[in-house]
Amino acid sequence: MIAVSVVLTMLAGALAGEPVAARAKKPNVIFISIDTLAADHTSLHGYFRDTTPFLKKLASENVMFENCISQAAYTLASHTSMFTGLYVDTHQVVWQHGEKVLGPEHKTLAERLKAAGYRTVWMATTTSPMLSLSRGLGRGFETVHDTWLEMGDGLKKVKTLLKTLPGEKPFFLFLHTYMLHDPYHPVAPYDRVFDPGFRRHIELAPDKLENLRIPRNLEEATVSRDARIRNNFMGQFNLKYKPDHDHFVALYDGGIRTADDAMKEIFATFRKIGVYNDSLIVVTSDHGETFGDYGYYFHYTPTHQETHVPLIMRIPGAKPARVSQMALGIDLLPTILDVLGIDPGAGPKLEGRSLLPALQGKTIPRDEYVFSHGLDHMDAVWDSQWKLVHGHPEIQDIRLYDVKADALERHDLSARNPGVVAKLKSVLDARACTTTPGTRRPSSKSSRARTSCSKTASRRRPIRWRRTTRCSPASTSTRTK
Ligand SMILES: [Zn+2]
Repeated sequence: MIAVSVVLTMLAGALAGEPVAARAKKPNVIFISIDTLAADHTSLHGYFRDTTPFLKKLASENVMFENCISQAAYTLASHTSMFTGLYVDTHQVVWQHGEKVLGPEHKTLAERLKAAGYRTVWMATTTSPMLSLSRGLGRGFETVHDTWLEMGDGLKKVKTLLKTLPGEKPFFLFLHTYMLHDPYHPVAPYDRVFDPGFRRHIELAPDKLENLRIPRNLEEATVSRDARIRNNFMGQFNLKYKPDHDHFVALYDGGIRTADDAMKEIFATFRKIGVYNDSLIVVTSDHGETFGDYGYYFHYTPTHQETHVPLIMRIPGAKPARVSQMALGIDLLPTILDVLGIDPGAGPKLEGRSLLPALQGKTIPRDEYVFSHGLDHMDAVWDSQWKLVHGHPEIQDIRLYDVKADALERHDLSARNPGVVAKLKSVLDARACTTTPGTRRPSSKSSRARTSCSKTASRRRPIRWRRTTRCSPASTSTRTK
């Protein structure tokens, strides 16, 4: 972490006007997480559909990080990384560890800002185990509003609550939406906006999806409500048939446009209540989404598609900029503290880095290896050239990409570079066993309980993951929203 005095010097060059950290009243901090927002599906990042006109405009007026990678391909672990500045296998709040709670030695962003005099406000669901208040994410929040941000009543409720935020003390707001998450459910007209020619009716309403199809066997009858809804949603598509596949993607894209329009209204409210100009604002996502390119759908493993997310930051006084250097989810906490001039203090070392040097064209210092995580320890490690990523549990392969030449990770070079595979695999295995004793990397198709995976598995011959380290077994379980 960069010392406050250095930050002020740096900001003097990067920012116009009075440095943020020197202001009498600290700026509000607004952290918006648009769950499951794949950067590659946003017009902000050049996607062929105009899914994000508002975010594109917002980015043009602020700072955009073009290459932001989330630290996990699923909600719980990724948000915990963003809130702590730590890799997943350091904070260990992972889905497959059941009720493991964030250790008290790791301070969350809300705890740190509360200690710095902020009023801390949660506006997100309180009932999702993937965004669980009880696993540590809720620590430090003084006010918890149970919100479900969707077009309609959900948006209206959030806009009303936003009006209660301005006050004597600066506030920290965490605002989250699941409106993009599967099963895709954009409301009209967003359900047709990107595929108006598709004629067949697809049921999107969760209440109707729950009972759309009668369970065929005991296994189907005993799955959770979320899993049944997701299965019935998926069951309406033949994803090997191009019109179905294309409509499936168009529904996801329609959800993005829904979220973008919702953000437009939310930011209009920020302006109306007078908090836009003087707030430090982060707009990002916890992970992306994939659509069959790797043989499965949705998000499980830390591939490019599943972890490349948008990151827009409004830093009061900062000039608009586009940053091409890699940014990580774990960088958000150190960056926010850096902007505000808050010392991270004693305690375990933060693993993220402040992104502020990038605003002066400087290189963000990185360790030799970067990590990202998937469900059931489907993890990834990369250095300045190579990325090793563990594939989906139903496929059980490992892939190697030359990320310098192949940033979109389309060409698996593992067969041609066994030495690089072995080296990176040993780095990943060693780290997992050091930070998470008891971790087992999968060596069999033990995670078949996935309810939302396509059965269109990859045709090529996968390299199997063989465990080389001695770690004792851990249990696995299905994910839920
Ligand atoms: Zn998520």
